[in-house]
Amino acid sequence: MEPRDERIYEALRRWWGFTSFRPVQEEIIRAAMARRDTLALMPTGGGKSLTYQVPTMAREGLCIVITPLIALMKDQVDRLRARGIPAVSIHSGLSPRQIDIALDNCVYGDVKFLYVAPERLATEAFRLRVVRMNVSLLAVDEAHCISQWGYDFRPSYLRIAELRERLPGVPVLALTASATELVAEDIMHHLKFAEPHILRSSFARPNLSYSVRRTDDKNGQLLRVARNVPGSGIVYMRTREGTEQIADLLRQEGIPAAAYHGGMGYAERSLRQEEWLQGKVRVMVATNAFGMGIDKPDVRFVVHYAMCDSLESYYQEAGRAGRDGKRAYALLLVAADDRDRIVRRFEKEFPPLEQVKDIYDRVCSYLNIGIGDGGGASFLFNIHEFCAREHLYSGTVAGALKLLQQNGYLTLTDAQDNPARILFCVSRDELYRLRVKRDDLDPLIRTILRLYNGVFTEFRAIDEGELATWSGYTPERVRELLKLLWQLRVIRYIPSNRSPILFMNEERLPRKDLYIAPETYLHRQQLMRERFDHMIAYAVNEERCRSEVLESYFGCTETTPCGVCDVCLARKRAARAAAQDSGTPETVGKQKPETGADPLETRILERIGEGAADPREIAAALACTPERYAEAVHRLLDSGAVRTTPEGRLERPGTGTPDADAK
Ligand code: ADP
Ligand code: MG
Repeated sequence: MEPRDERIYEALRRWWGFTSFRPVQEEIIRAAMARRDTLALMPTGGGKSLTYQVPTMAREGLCIVITPLIALMKDQVDRLRARGIPAVSIHSGLSPRQIDIALDNCVYGDVKFLYVAPERLATEAFRLRVVRMNVSLLAVDEAHCISQWGYDFRPSYLRIAELRERLPGVPVLALTASATELVAEDIMHHLKFAEPHILRSSFARPNLSYSVRRTDDKNGQLLRVARNVPGSGIVYMRTREGTEQIADLLRQEGIPAAAYHGGMGYAERSLRQEEWLQGKVRVMVATNAFGMGIDKPDVRFVVHYAMCDSLESYYQEAGRAGRDGKRAYALLLVAADDRDRIVRRFEKEFPPLEQVKDIYDRVCSYLNIGIGDGGGASFLFNIHEFCAREHLYSGTVAGALKLLQQNGYLTLTDAQDNPARILFCVSRDELYRLRVKRDDLDPLIRTILRLYNGVFTEFRAIDEGELATWSGYTPERVRELLKLLWQLRVIRYIPSNRSPILFMNEERLPRKDLYIAPETYLHRQQLMRERFDHMIAYAVNEERCRSEVLESYFGCTETTPCGVCDVCLARKRAARAAAQDSGTPETVGKQKPETGADPLETRILERIGEGAADPREIAAALACTPERYAEAVHRLLDSGAVRTTPEGRLERPGTGTPDADAK
């Protein structure tokens, strides 16, 4: 082992208050410090952010972070600022002026982190400023988006190669939780790595017990789990209606449960989330809109009411159980006709090319974009409202937009909470005449003018609650009056909402000039099927340890059976039954008593000592069979004598970080 680099430990202590790195983290950080291009593969929650944040804080200069999810971008910037670290972001939800200010702060100010949405890389504002920044590292989050072999390909990621040319000598750190070998090669190729270099952490979760139940009585199975496993849980459903139905069912059975999905308002969602975090509500029944950025360590079970579209999603969602390292369960429920139903839904997500073009036209018209207009502009786009108005199925529209995105016409961001916005569309004189005439409107207009300058020139974010406080109206009345002003054509008003932003990479084209490459269409369809096939294979598998299936899917080659999934347990039971039947002395003799101090357990505990230890190193130090070792470890886990850390090391409870123990 090379000597410790004190600078990175100092930065870790000073800015985050942590004392140690997770195993692969330090290696990645050292590579970044040594200016070596690196591809880091770590599971979600593994701690990827620190791998670019720590080296940046350990030396001079600014780190540019490319990341496609605006919600996560905002979250990271807030967290850094809360630690006193200057950070900014530029994305399509900001006005040109806000972007200019942020970029200037990166050139002249002391900004350490600049988060950039990929579609902003091509803009003039960014390209001109970036060459004047003192950049020390280029971090590419969700790096699999650069590969056309990956399902989440985003053409705007290809611009990063050009950015590298503008920043000679700046190393790149590419991060992802999912990359097949082909995608990994592709990432390093497109990011112009000086030489290939991959660092990978384990995807094993030793305290998580995976199982699959094939059943026609999903409700019954779900209730059994919710009754038998104490503590908090999550149930993932595929539809919004499903979340309400199952939450009702659980409540009828006396289990405190709440539904959660993206169609709910912000206040409602935060309230339910808070109640669940505090344990007032035991079970959250949710769509996949729930969970991103949520850090609840003591989730004891995650039940999937149906298969996900991919093992990536399944691993990520199931992995929200047992972050505290204690025993937790991940159960997948599968009915006989699930597969066909989901495949039929997939088909709807691949509309014929003529329909894709039709949806393009209708979306542009809906957003009032004329032919030849809209290039480089962004629009709030609520897909559900659009579908309701146009009588279209949301899966079809989402599929069409994805194809348009992959062909470079537009970019659709993740959904986010957007403040209300207004813009005056009358002159100051006209407004004055109106105020004199209309006593009922004057107080609100006065408040707007006092609180928000610039409302005459561009859409300004306003806060309806703030307006209520200052004007003395209720928030409902404020909204009514704003609507009235809008009807009178005094203002343009976009109420607060939750929606993605649609960014037009190019101006609207006439339908005949719209070209969707048939290859992208077929390729995407094929990728979707392949991904789903892996999910099905996981669900029907009865032979192979489920943890190993997942680990090898993520490219890990050195795997061992987990010993606690339903497949491993069934195998153990069968072996025990066979041993008892045959009664041969050597197999019977190999069986250990279920309880009582096993000398092996004692030796494992000694090995762990006071700190956390790598289970593979312990196994290597103790001369025993892997099966016997795994069983002893699982008995220790079940009895609570040891637990696993998030990175899969073993530790005695009470020796970890203080916040992990607080309960
Ligand atoms: P990822 O991007 O890989 O999904 P994050 O970077 O968001 O994961 O990190 C997940 C969590 O792990 C964060 O709450 C972070 O503070 C925590 N974490 C990361 N590294 C460490 C460490 N060395 N010690 C303690 N906590 C850590
Ligand atoms: Mg991350």
